[in-house]
Amino acid sequence: MPELLKTQLAVIGAGPGGYAAAFHGADLGLQVTLIDVEPNPGGTCLYRGCIPSKALLHVAKLIHDAEEAEEWGLSFAPPRMDLDKMRQRTGQVIEQMTGGLGQLCRARNVRYLRGRAAFMTSHQLAVFHEDGAEDILETDHSIIATGSRPALFGPLIRSERLMNSTNALQLKRVPETLLVIGGGYIGLELGSVYAALGTKVTVVEMTDTLLPGADRDLTAPLEKRLARTFTKILTKTKVAEMCEQDNGMRVQLEGTQVGKGSHIFDKVLVCVGRKANSRGLNLGDVRVETDARGFIQVDLQRRTSEPHIFAIGDVTGEPMLAHKASAEGKVAAAVIAGRKAAFEPQAIPAVVFTDPEIAWCGETEKSAREKGLAFKIARFPWVASGRASTLNRVDGLTKILCDADTNQVIGMGIAGSGAGELISEGVLAIEMGAVAEDLDLTIHPHPTLSETVMESAAALFGQSTHIYRPPRKEAK
Ligand code: FAD
Repeated sequence: MPELLKTQLAVIGAGPGGYAAAFHGADLGLQVTLIDVEPNPGGTCLYRGCIPSKALLHVAKLIHDAEEAEEWGLSFAPPRMDLDKMRQRTGQVIEQMTGGLGQLCRARNVRYLRGRAAFMTSHQLAVFHEDGAEDILETDHSIIATGSRPALFGPLIRSERLMNSTNALQLKRVPETLLVIGGGYIGLELGSVYAALGTKVTVVEMTDTLLPGADRDLTAPLEKRLARTFTKILTKTKVAEMCEQDNGMRVQLEGTQVGKGSHIFDKVLVCVGRKANSRGLNLGDVRVETDARGFIQVDLQRRTSEPHIFAIGDVTGEPMLAHKASAEGKVAAAVIAGRKAAFEPQAIPAVVFTDPEIAWCGETEKSAREKGLAFKIARFPWVASGRASTLNRVDGLTKILCDADTNQVIGMGIAGSGAGELISEGVLAIEMGAVAEDLDLTIHPHPTLSETVMESAAALFGQSTHIYRPPRKEAK
């Protein structure tokens, strides 16, 4: 007999959206049950996304730093790689973090059910456990936070040589050659890891550019560096066919740079987007609407078409980012707890953790032009930054976009080492309605890369100390 449990708030899925929602709900006094198939909270982000990928990118950075040390008069022997130890270390990071989240659940009195949930009615969930047991959970409200999974590419091929991001992070072996299908951030980050470990990496991207959401001047330093670390970057190229043979995957490529031809790769990594985890929840019976691709439709409070059911994170669509999921989770939990809240951020930062990193927030040049906004733009090249020189990383760029009349900051973009850390200043400026003068007049510590934010604001008035550019008045 299934056990009958009661709760005020059921959160389905314990990724960064779900656990943030559950914890916030508990902090606001709700009785919360969090459900996930994993042993502890963490979701895609901790088990097979943000955290393991950044741990491996750290390994890649260590390798590059050791290579570059030569220029500073330090020589190291070529690295010896112990994949078992790398996997073990990454596993430890994951275990420590997910275990910590489990403890936070207990500390907040959030009930954690390990199992797969599906709706029976809008106030009743069935939770199926791995051992065949089942619970029925009666709930006042639910938040769906079931996330996303890698999209498949073309015909279903079962092969050890074909990887998605999840398999790639398992780092079973270092292939001799790797084709990455998709020039988005996941493909470039994972391609960078394998390239650092010694794999000859080729990237194919169907559109005419890598990282289509980012401005070209920001991707330029990355493309320059990747041209050295990757074997080939093929834009405007598509994979027409793929099949496995004894010596590898035979891939038929078609594109302006390669024409039509077949190529053999030891392994192929498919990074062509992500699909919503909305099937299997029995949403049809509870009137929760999805779009044609399965993403759940929500309003500003993250409420679905069924008033007691909310949805947050990847399962609601782009941008599919952990911090967006968490912020939405807190809004949904607050609304359920009776607070006045809505998800209306002025800027959601995006970071690509490649080398160099690329980060942006608010408007990009592309989005500002598409919206017909009148804006001014100023750039500060890192070649003029003292800190960048000491780090041997003068390949960066910081730029600021401001309203043409008021100088209010509407966007920021950074390419360079640590861009992911620096972009928060731009997010704060936009959220606070800061004008360029605010950033210019804010004293930044020297020598730091954060000075490039201040200097880019000063450059808007032709007053950057370390570059000379006359002020530009015209809207771009
Ligand atoms: P998820 O984290 O996907 O969690 C959903 C959870 O729901 C899962 O644990 C799943 O087991 C569970 N679940 C699904 N269905 C059910 C069910 N029926 N019953 C119970 N449980 C269920 N984002 C960033 O912001 N920064 C990064 O650097 C970054 N790097 C990434 C790198 C990679 C390789 C990948 C794949 C993703 C990366 N992301 C990154 C994206 C990020 O992981 C997601 O945006 C984020 O995890 C979404 O959070 P979520 O809570 O919506 O869902």
